[in-house]
Amino acid sequence: MKIIPAGERSTETEIATAVEACCWTRPYGEANFAYLKFYLCDFIELTKQDKECQRHRLTDLKWHAVLRNIGAHANQPGNAIYEGWLVKLRGGGYAIPVSLITSLRRGGVDTGKCECGGTLRGVMEFDRLWTWCSQCTPVVKAIVNEIA
Ligand SMILES: [Zn+2]
Repeated sequence: MKIIPAGERSTETEIATAVEACCWTRPYGEANFAYLKFYLCDFIELTKQDKECQRHRLTDLKWHAVLRNIGAHANQPGNAIYEGWLVKLRGGGYAIPVSLITSLRRGGVDTGKCECGGTLRGVMEFDRLWTWCSQCTPVVKAIVNEIA
């Protein structure tokens, strides 16, 4: 299910939520900028204005700046990094925090059956219900370098 931006341009929060969804599909819970620039459109319906070029930077699209801003605004409440949902990747990009993956894997309650036949588990963390499948959620452990 793709995120549909509410306005004419995707907000930083909408982009960050798509980044989280993307990272959860990755083997180590991480995605660098090159990967996100190519694949984030699988997770959010980028708008026409999102895809406009930045003035003077023809290879840089407007939503790329929003993507970088997630890291730049890490000290602001509500930001995905500030709230503990993402960490910055060394070299550029984002990842699911190791501590979050670990606590999810340890805890959780059954929340139903997955389409694949696996068991869905879920846990409340950071005021959200996080779910994963015992069989098809690929994130098993994270080995990323966090930047403080
Ligand atoms: Zn499954």
